[in-house]
Amino acid sequence: MVDAVPALRGTGQAVTVRDAVVVGGGPAGATLAQALAAAGRDVVLVEREAGPHDKVCGEFLSQEAIHYLRLSGLEPGRLGAVPIAEVDVSAGGKRVTCPLPFTAYSLSRRRMDEALIELARGAGSRILRGRSVQGLERCGGFWTARLDDGDTIRAQDAFVATGKHDLRGWKRPPGSQNDLIGLKLHLRLAAGQAAELAGKVELFLFPGGYAGLEPIEAGKVNLCLLIRKDTFRRIGQKWPALLDLIQVFDPHFARRMEGAVPLRDRPLAIANIPYGLVERREDGCWRLGDQAAVIPSFAGEGMSIALHSAALAANCYLHGGTAAEFTRRLRNDLSGQVGRATLLSHLLVQRKAQAALALGARLWPAALGLIASATRIQAAALRTLPVALPDQRRAVPVAPQATAP
Ligand SMILES: Cc1cc2nc3c(=O)[nH]c(=O)nc-3n(C[C@H](O)[C@H](O)[C@H](O)COP(=O)(O)OP(=O)(O)OC[C@H]3O[C@@H](n4cnc5c(N)ncnc54)[C@H](O)[C@@H]3O)c2cc1C
Repeated sequence: MVDAVPALRGTGQAVTVRDAVVVGGGPAGATLAQALAAAGRDVVLVEREAGPHDKVCGEFLSQEAIHYLRLSGLEPGRLGAVPIAEVDVSAGGKRVTCPLPFTAYSLSRRRMDEALIELARGAGSRILRGRSVQGLERCGGFWTARLDDGDTIRAQDAFVATGKHDLRGWKRPPGSQNDLIGLKLHLRLAAGQAAELAGKVELFLFPGGYAGLEPIEAGKVNLCLLIRKDTFRRIGQKWPALLDLIQVFDPHFARRMEGAVPLRDRPLAIANIPYGLVERREDGCWRLGDQAAVIPSFAGEGMSIALHSAALAANCYLHGGTAAEFTRRLRNDLSGQVGRATLLSHLLVQRKAQAALALGARLWPAALGLIASATRIQAAALRTLPVALPDQRRAVPVAPQATAP
């Protein structure tokens, strides 16, 4: 379903939005657009994908992410999300299982992101789908977003939430770990294997990388992994060769893959991820989610950061705060967590450190829970948000926005 914003029809027209243009409809952008629209602000959200789509992601929702989703009115269980109670770490077939310190969920991004965009629409945000922002600049006190078809949107404030993809002229610094490639594929496991995986996320440490396997909605399973570029190059950059590498190294992974059916021809992939980045630039632009901080996958949870950044930005903005104040506050909330997760991720792709971590986890399984706690958004950051999202919704009634057919 595509909503057209009136007066924007690819004919080089300009439209002025009273308050904000939000670029990118992932969890960060959609949640922010929902909160601002719910508070009565005039907001346009631009999302380049025209409809539901998959993303490279482990699809693991931590307690903090669930907290924010519920504040936005989204109950993951109602979308079919699967509860996850245990983590199982395997290295070369040697395994250790440990209860998670919280109940997590897993849910496909295809479903979750779409539901968040619908919530933004329901709150009164104008949604522009299937068109991308090609340029963003500030001139005469206004931000101008230039769309791929020549139209432009002018707004008082601009929020960049384009996730893994940088806007032209708005490239992020490289981060401290940027030699990893992310890959993801949905599968259907053989019945016995699926039954064994129920309620669990399994992590596999293998030479040059680590993989996560977990059940998602509708009986499907998500396999998502990170591998060092040099290792991937050595095996010819081929997905079957990568699966072979992990299966030969880890008989437990090989067992899981017996009879597994991939649900697309090839995996989705992403490279040049600036892991470890926490944005410092204070140039008047509001950067959210992966544009503000990039935490290594599995070692930390990027979706909770995306949702936290949206809640914090909405609070700051609605209380008259500036983009610079928001950037400082977010950096303060996230620097420690991102630093610890990046250190852990460096260790997770080193052969000797992998062996030491796996041995440590077998001798002291509770350490897995401690590590998971140290790489999450700290409770103090969640508690100190001045206003929760639903309060903003109650505070200002939303006027329905007209949408073109
Ligand atoms: C391998 C891997 C595994 C991961 N696993 C997990 C996990 O298990 N749990 C977890 O919490 N996090 C995980 N993450 C991190 C998580 O995916 C991100 O942190 C999260 O998606 C960030 O949300 P976002 O809203 O900032 O960006 P995104 O979700 O990337 O959304 C950005 C949106 O902007 C749109 N867009 C981009 N450019 C433009 C443009 N020019 N104009 C208009 N729209 C545009 C895109 O289409 C996209 O929908 C993982 C990441 C990777 C790489």
